[in-house]
Amino acid sequence: LMQLSIPLNFIGSIYREIRQGLTDIEAMFDLLSVSAEVEDRPGAQPLTVTQGTIRFEDVRFGYDPDRQILKGISFEVPAGRSIAIVGPSGAGKSTISRLLFRFYDVGSGRITIDGQDISRVTQKSVRSVIGIVPQDTVLFNDTIAYNIRYGRIDASEAEVQRAADLAQIGDFIKSLPHGFQSMVGERGLKLSGGEKQRVAVARTILKAPPILVLDEATSALDTHTEKDIQSALDLVSKNRTTLTIAHRLSTVISADEIIVLKAGVIVERGSHADLLGQNGLYAEMWTMQREATEAEEALRRAREAD
Ligand code: ADP
Ligand code: MG
Repeated sequence: LMQLSIPLNFIGSIYREIRQGLTDIEAMFDLLSVSAEVEDRPGAQPLTVTQGTIRFEDVRFGYDPDRQILKGISFEVPAGRSIAIVGPSGAGKSTISRLLFRFYDVGSGRITIDGQDISRVTQKSVRSVIGIVPQDTVLFNDTIAYNIRYGRIDASEAEVQRAADLAQIGDFIKSLPHGFQSMVGERGLKLSGGEKQRVAVARTILKAPPILVLDEATSALDTHTEKDIQSALDLVSKNRTTLTIAHRLSTVISADEIIVLKAGVIVERGSHADLLGQNGLYAEMWTMQREATEAEEALRRAREAD
């Protein structure tokens, strides 16, 4: 019996590892709501990043051939600079981040990083230089430490803790009975949207990639926590090429350029001040959000006065 149980245990543990691996990959794809359809060209070489300049050149794309989502998108994020994309929901903002991460190949046009067409280099090398804080973070069924360390597998315990602190989630984790060893995910501790986002931020801080993509990275947070995390994100994005996709316009004021996307077309672009001056869609969105924020604050003050 002994002889039999050892190999069975062994197989069991391999099986569990494979299962976990599958769950992770499924979670990754689920997270960006896509399937694994991109394949490397035979003999594809890895991307070499020297500066981290991103260019979209007349990019067209549709998930289905009969429905174009992006209709000729061109922009550049110079190395170390920050560009923000704003616009109504369904405009195609997240699609831009998925194409950059090469979850799909473009229909026509091209995307380059430091002059190299990302569809001609290995997918893995593209993903290794980009850190994404997605809209909805899916955690792996593992410990919090594992979920953060996923950003850089060889990170030390101290580095994991520092990243958690910078992402404003360190104290919360330390307050749990099992601390960093607490199980999270489907079968573990259920974290709130904001907590999950902070885990994703910690992961990205640890990865410290040359290119950052923040997809409405702080959307699940209350205004106060958002400000704290925003300063942590400002810290990571400093001197890194950053693409920020945002609903809340307060987070994009300082971007070098703001691109306004509507139904897959860039309708306005410029600095915050330029765009307010243009009195178009951006100015309209800005006024609406300011009014909403003021109403929210008035309500909060009224409640506090009670
Ligand atoms: P945004 O981030 O600006 O809200 P998205 O880029 O997520 O917009 O989506 C743009 C359009 O593409 C939407 O109409 C959406 O329904 C569609 N879309 C997004 N993901 C998929 C998908 N996996 N398959 C088919 N259509 C999709
Ligand atoms: Mg989106």
